Amino acid sequence: MTLVVDKNESEEIELKVSDRCDACGAQAFVYVKGLSGELYFCGHHYAKNEEKLKSWSFTIIDKRDTINKKSESSN
Ligand SMILES: [Zn+2]
Repeated sequence: MTLVVDKNESEEIELKVSDRCDACGAQAFVYVKGLSGELYFCGHHYAKNEEKLKSWSFTIIDKRDTINKKSESSN
């Protein structure tokens, strides 16, 4: 058997524009991997569920700092 060291796994996860929040369908900025699967959240819904998710998940990729980097078209 080969032991896979998965410590680097989280660094390879990239959130794409096509990744959508599981709650509302907006662009996802947080990836959460937990015991029973994977979830994607927008910043809003991640913040809303953050405490629950932190106890459930073992990997959280938080890319909310990229939210402000998206196009500044009409804001
Ligand atoms: Zn959402």
